[in-house]
Amino acid sequence: MPDYNNFINGKFVPSSGKDRIEVMNPSTGKPICTVPESTPTDVETAVAAAEATQRAWARRPAIERAKVLRAVAEKIRVNSEPLARIITEEQGKPLGLARGEVSFTAEYFDYMAEWARRIEGEILESDRPGETIFLFRQAIGVIGGILPWNFPFFLIARKTAPALVTGNTIVIKPSEETPHNAVKFCELAAEAGVPPGLINVVHGRGPGAGKALAGSPRIGMVSFTGSVETGSAIMSAAAPNITKVNLELGGKAPALVMADADVNLAVKAVKASRVLNSGQVCNCAERVYVQKPIAEEFVTKLTAAMKETHFGNPLEDESVEYGPLINEKGFKKVESLVGSAVKAGATVLTGGKRASQEGGYYYEPTVVTGCRQDMEIIRREVFGPVAPIVTFEDLDEAIAFANDSDYGLTSSVYTRDLNVALRACQEIRFGETYINRENFEAFQGFHAGWRKSGIGGADGKHGLYEHTQTHMVYIQRY
Ligand code: NAD
Repeated sequence: MPDYNNFINGKFVPSSGKDRIEVMNPSTGKPICTVPESTPTDVETAVAAAEATQRAWARRPAIERAKVLRAVAEKIRVNSEPLARIITEEQGKPLGLARGEVSFTAEYFDYMAEWARRIEGEILESDRPGETIFLFRQAIGVIGGILPWNFPFFLIARKTAPALVTGNTIVIKPSEETPHNAVKFCELAAEAGVPPGLINVVHGRGPGAGKALAGSPRIGMVSFTGSVETGSAIMSAAAPNITKVNLELGGKAPALVMADADVNLAVKAVKASRVLNSGQVCNCAERVYVQKPIAEEFVTKLTAAMKETHFGNPLEDESVEYGPLINEKGFKKVESLVGSAVKAGATVLTGGKRASQEGGYYYEPTVVTGCRQDMEIIRREVFGPVAPIVTFEDLDEAIAFANDSDYGLTSSVYTRDLNVALRACQEIRFGETYINRENFEAFQGFHAGWRKSGIGGADGKHGLYEHTQTHMVYIQRY
């Protein structure tokens, strides 16, 4: 079994500590590799390397920085198949989805490289005679990127590409569940000629390496994707240094299916969203609201579609629609939320239990009806192949149900009526709304959650500028 190391200043280096983390294949429960449980000293060494190189990097013209991003994209493309297999092995998603993730990651580097000639400041009118006012956008410094396991490879690009093109350097802590793809990424970055110190990776668990990175006084921003609870812990770690935080947190996306909707389209989209990555996606329909006149038809068709879902070990069968859940903890959470819904009066129409596959964390595709707003399954992120259904009377009630949540990441509405769609968009209080489809978001959009789903956001112009700070300059002619 290979033992991997941290990547600091362009080289793989051992940790200063001895503890190691064993990485598991969730499809089989068997170990894949080990990575270090990095110490705060390792984290500071990585931050120092990123800091030492940052000024020279920021002085290079943005178009030269973009060339480095494009070289990384190219390396990723050439290595897409081994990368996809690594992702599937450690995370459990189907190979087709892993290939899509790799290709998105390469495209994301290219997309962010395109911004090199478009990073703009402003020139403002002054109140004083003979004065010119400039607003410059400058790099923040060193970014600390802390990643989740559900789209581990794409998240490297989402943190790294906008940071580098705007002149920052970065230290990444991958999820301890899925570090292998990050090791491979470092190898490819070195082969692509990324200058030492620009991208550094330290492995470890959250309370150790993660907390040390978020609490480092030398980073200018911590960019985190993960759960609300961890987001809150990261804010606390960053607070003593007043470090800027950019938080992409959990979701509890409502899907509103109106009586006039194309039911087949809604069923297809909601089903695909519920099983995508075994339901472990922040922007997947996590609670489904159906208007009463079509509730029976919708539920019957969704139950049939969920029953037909083909799942299993994604490395053995390329045709699976989903694989295992990530780990025992995730599995227990799904089990407990479905169990508590049943206890509170909901009905499981299909699924609702562990599937028989040996060794892995497989949960059956599940439909739960008779759910209510007060149930845990409607209030907490399930992160599994489970569709909890609530019925509603009219649009007012549907909007009220949708907004009644701590989360505010994404939402969707199924209707043929433009007025309904527009009203829903104006009144649904979420960072993103999809009309007549489910996820995903676009690179050129702005992925940003309301309420406990986050602070700041990613992608597009607004996501790019999150990685800059303004510098006002007043020039007085005399
Ligand atoms: P998590 O919060 O458990 O862990 C995420 C990362 O934080 C890991 O690298 C972990 O080691 C680290 N961490 C844990 N405790 C820490 C601490 N005290 N200090 C610093 N770092 C710490 O999340 P997860 O289980 O890896 O990912 C699933 C969650 O991520 C879900 O809630 C999902 O909705 C969310 N997510 C959100 C988005 C988005 O764009 N909003 C995208 C993907 C995933």
